[in-house]
Amino acid sequence: MKYWGFMGVKVALIALAMRGLWPLVKSLLPPPRPFLYIGQPFGRDLVWTLAAGACFLVGCGLLYLAWLDQRYRCRVCLRRLRMPVETGSWSSMLQFGRPRIEYICPYGHGTLEVPEVQIAGPEHADWRAHGDIWEELTSVEEARR
Ligand SMILES: [Zn+2]
Repeated sequence: MKYWGFMGVKVALIALAMRGLWPLVKSLLPPPRPFLYIGQPFGRDLVWTLAAGACFLVGCGLLYLAWLDQRYRCRVCLRRLRMPVETGSWSSMLQFGRPRIEYICPYGHGTLEVPEVQIAGPEHADWRAHGDIWEELTSVEEARR
């Protein structure tokens, strides 16, 4: 819930930024020439249409960056995943497995496996929660006391 809530906040901020960007762009554009159109100049005036297209592309780019940032975040604590480790082998896939990159949460909440080879279409990254790794370590410390 926290993970998707954070993504929702990012999307809301992007929507807010785009809502503020369009009036700024409109104020910078030259006024449309009132010839043969009624209402919005979008689709009838080349400069206004290109500006709207550029704003759309900026919004799509920001959404992509938000999605890319969200993909490499811990599902529990939302910190960026660290320590990429390459596993598998490109030259010996049958012996050592398919190549992939594993990222881990710095606090040990889980591991994200991102496959580098996509043989049968796009494969999604696999998140594995580690659960109680720190509880096991602290219980060992408490058992020694
Ligand atoms: Zn974490």
